[in-house]
Order: sequence, then C-alpha cells, then structure tokens
Amino acid sequence: MPGHSAAQNASAAIQLEHVSVTYAGRRPALEDVSLMLPSGSHVAVIGPNGAGKSTLFNALLGLVPLAGGRIRLFGLSPQRARARIAYIPQRDQVDWQFPLTALDIALMGRVTHIGWRLKPRAADYAAAQSALERVDMWKMRATPIAELSGGQQQRLIIARALAQEAPLFLLDEPFNEVDASTQELLLDLFDELATAGRTLLVATHDLALARRRFPALLFLNRSVKGFGSPDEVFTPETLEKTYTKQVVKWDEGDALSSIVDAHTFSHNH
Ligand code: ADP
Ligand code: MG
Repeated sequence: MPGHSAAQNASAAIQLEHVSVTYAGRRPALEDVSLMLPSGSHVAVIGPNGAGKSTLFNALLGLVPLAGGRIRLFGLSPQRARARIAYIPQRDQVDWQFPLTALDIALMGRVTHIGWRLKPRAADYAAAQSALERVDMWKMRATPIAELSGGQQQRLIIARALAQEAPLFLLDEPFNEVDASTQELLLDLFDELATAGRTLLVATHDLALARRRFPALLFLNRSVKGFGSPDEVFTPETLEKTYTKQVVKWDEGDALSSIVDAHTFSHNH
C-alpha cells in the first residue's frame, strides 16, 4: 500500500520515493533511490567519487530537477523546506579570500532568521556566539577568514550551520583536509545534534571512520547498495557492490586506499 505508507510518513525528516536525477546528455547520476529517515537519523553517505553523493544533497536542496520520483522533507517539497536545511558544501566551493571575519561567517547562518529586518538582533548575535563557542572558535571571532587553517575554516562553516538552528544538516565531505582534533570535535558534535533530534546526512569516503562513528550507513553508487547499521551492512558484499572493480582499478585516490582498509578490517574481524 504505497499511498498509505506515504501518508503515514508525512512527518519523516527525509523521504525519497524512486528518485532519479539525470544531468543532460549523461547516464543517470541517481537511479530509483528510495529512503525514509525519521528525525534524529545520523547517516554516513558512502560511495566512490562520482557515486552521486553531492547530487543526492543537491536533490534534497531542490537544486537539481528530478527525472523521476518524489522528495519530501518534513512533509514538504525541497523548495518549501529549504530554510530547514543547513547545508555544508564540499570545502572547495567556498571562497576563503573574501574579506570577512569568523563572526561574519557565523552570522550568515542567521540570514533566514534576519530576513527583511536586514539587521541582526541580539538573538542573532547570541546564536552566532554560541555556535562559535561550540566549535571552539569564539576566541578567533575577529580573525579574517583567509588567515585561518583548513580545520579552523571548517569549524566556521559548521558554526554557520549551527547558528541557522535548522533541523536537517547535509554535510558534504566535512572531514576533508581537517586536522584530527577538528575531526573528533565534529564527530562529537554530530552525535550530540542527532541525540537532540536533528537529522544528519554526512557524505564521506572514509569507510573506516563511517563504520566506527556512525549508527547508520547508506552505501550509494547511483542506486542504494545498502542501508543499515554498520553491523548489518558493512560487509564485503556491500563494498563490492558500491565500489565496482572498474572504479577500484582507475581510481588511485582515497577510494582505493579506503577500500583496501575496508578489506583489511573485514578480514580482521
Ligand atoms: P559524488 O559527490 O559522489 O562524487 P556527484 O554527485 O558529484 O558524485 O556526481 C555524480 C555524477 O554526476 C558524476 O558522474 C558526475 O560527473 C555527474 N555530475 C555531477 N554534477 C554534474 C553537473 N552539474 N553536470 C553534469 N554532470 C554532473
Ligand atoms: Mg561530491
């Protein structure tokens, strides 16, 4: 009874039904992806380069048209749910030479709250301050962003998302180029947010990290190759389905080293 279940799940944080996305002239980037996530879900989205992780986020943001299927976020279309999404793009999409301070960046998270008032209020500054404090960046609030390290810049991007006070977080490879202490801080923060009922989707190609620190894993490569707890889905079968031989052969980057790690892990257990 598909119609019945759709009605029952109207309040799910994320609901995808048979979603496909095709960029012009290419084979589908996403094909028949179905997924239902209640609020408080904390999911690592795993797959090699080109698997469609960023495309999935763009679809949830309503930035790419669907070739088929339907997306509902808190029962709303992606366009209508946009203000409820804190989106953290892949790091290379941010211009760090822009003459802004750390506090400016955190305040940007308040845009949807500030709206037509144009000027931040005390509540906006308070939210920006508490977000900066949470990622241990308040002491650097007046520092120009160009002078920050990669890890500090990533903490800021996360602070901006926190200041937004959104119920849904989409984080696209947030651990790339960050130091170990920032990574641990972010992982603890994500746990805390999910426990508080926020929903988090975190794209990563770090298989070992996903397995160790996420309660749910979504293996993606154009279609869903596996979804469940690490104990359920972190298996050689799922890995082989997700990382096809072809990909392993030509990808000499992180995907290959991670898959080697993953096989080592599964043989050790
Ligand atoms: P991932 O984030 O997992 O690396 P992407 O979602 O970026 O994967 O890419 C999925 C597929 O869609 C790839 O084949 C990629 O080349 C293609 N793609 C992504 N963005 C675009 C775009 N704007 N126009 C055309 N093709 C794209
Ligand atoms: Mg990507």
